[in-house]
Amino acid sequence: MTFNLHIVHLYPREMNIYGDTGNRLILQKRMEWRNINVRISLVGMGDEVPLDSDIILGGGAQDAMQLAVEKDLKQKMKSLRRLSDDGVVMLMVCGMYQLFGQSFITGSHRRIEGLGILPVETCAGKTRFIGNTVYQTKWGTVVGYENHSGLTQLDDSAVAFGTVIKGAGNNGTDGTEGCIKNNVFGTYSHGPVLSKSPAFADELIRLALARRYDNDNTSLAPLDDRMELRAADVAKLRSR
Ligand code: GLN
Repeated sequence: MTFNLHIVHLYPREMNIYGDTGNRLILQKRMEWRNINVRISLVGMGDEVPLDSDIILGGGAQDAMQLAVEKDLKQKMKSLRRLSDDGVVMLMVCGMYQLFGQSFITGSHRRIEGLGILPVETCAGKTRFIGNTVYQTKWGTVVGYENHSGLTQLDDSAVAFGTVIKGAGNNGTDGTEGCIKNNVFGTYSHGPVLSKSPAFADELIRLALARRYDNDNTSLAPLDDRMELRAADVAKLRSR
């Protein structure tokens, strides 16, 4: 049987710092190595979000870029909400994570209405959190890199993506990192995060296949991840 998955990269030009595009390349490679056919769509300002998306990726950027995409994102709100309700796998990093929440108040006190897909709220704080990060998640240790001043609070109903071992995570105080709802993952981890977190990368692929082919028992052939895990070990030991 042939498997096909469609990866959609949201705002690859506008929202893309600290290697976030790498997440797309990593997923593509990990699929190709298993003979899964991959289609890639780059979705920018004015483009429609494909309704047959299997995995949607979004990256980070500073407040100014978040303001620049605000209006366009509103136009994509209906389809993104529908796709998230429908279990489409999404990975939203930092700036896009904030915009997937209820709202984000920028450093210049502008309120950006979020998509309301993740039950979180963010407000710019006075401290900038910068450096390598390590989080414990259901999918093993996730190693990334953060650079944000936004402080994100989870609503009472929210499920965090992980707990902080090293770094600030959502807000530097409650020990939570990121948020998950349905198959939508929001995280502060740049890096690109999937380069040093292969088990998490595979979980995204597995979830997308399980949904597309309606098979909860989907499993993936193992890959040789020694290099990725070694890179993760090095990053874990680096000072912030
Ligand atoms: N503007 C956001 C912040 O500084 C997002 C930064 C980012 O995506 N790295 O909190």
